[in-house]
Amino acid sequence: MSLTPMNQAAYWILRCEHRLLTITDNKAESIFPSVLPAAFGHPENALHVGELNGLPCYAADVAQHPEIPGGEAAPLRTIFQLAGPEIFALAGRATQLLDWQANHRFCGKCGTPTRMKSDELAMACPNCGLLAYPRISPAVMVLVRDGDKLLLGRSPRFKPGVFSALAGFVEPGETLEECAAREVREEVGVEITNLRYFHSQPWPFPNSLMVAFFADYAGGTITPDPVEIEAAAWFTPDDLPLLPEPISISRQLIDAALQNG
Ligand SMILES: [Zn+2]
Repeated sequence: MSLTPMNQAAYWILRCEHRLLTITDNKAESIFPSVLPAAFGHPENALHVGELNGLPCYAADVAQHPEIPGGEAAPLRTIFQLAGPEIFALAGRATQLLDWQANHRFCGKCGTPTRMKSDELAMACPNCGLLAYPRISPAVMVLVRDGDKLLLGRSPRFKPGVFSALAGFVEPGETLEECAAREVREEVGVEITNLRYFHSQPWPFPNSLMVAFFADYAGGTITPDPVEIEAAAWFTPDDLPLLPEPISISRQLIDAALQNG
């Protein structure tokens, strides 16, 4: 970790009430401003989150966004549309690290106020030595296929009409492969085979790593879990429901299946 830069050229991802300060002006070099810390009260807990246009990029929670020309507070989710996947990934990293810092101000074991370590990304307890690292929660996503048909389901949390690939969190002691088979079995009562890795995607809502797979249908009749799955069905490419937004790996997974036939 770098120490807080006080008068150095840098970009800042400033968060206030779950919104990030962006610049909507087309002529700006970056969607995030390069303001000096004096403009927002020299935050004590600034975090170095990466590089942007060759300059360091820091993140901080602030009580109020500074007034800057063209400045607008935007929720994290909109950064993808505004600035594309790379900047969204940086903003997602910043958000997760700010959450982690805010949620680990005290030792989980003995309750002593923690300190940020200077040589690694960890919050350390000066009393008992416990280290708290940023938590990532792996989740598996599976697109089950039977010929050209895709098994898609919808959670009650989805927007109306949207169906997606099945997904669930990895449990302690479980492999990704075991998780994939268990989630599909639990959510829709179907068995799978021939699991093939697709891609992964950090999903900062709040701290998942989505690991996406294709799988082939191996048996069973769709029986949706009454709590987690509102509806599930086989869909052919010419009769698809509404799909998730392009920001998500679920949409990329479905698109890849449709393109490869
Ligand atoms: Zn402690």
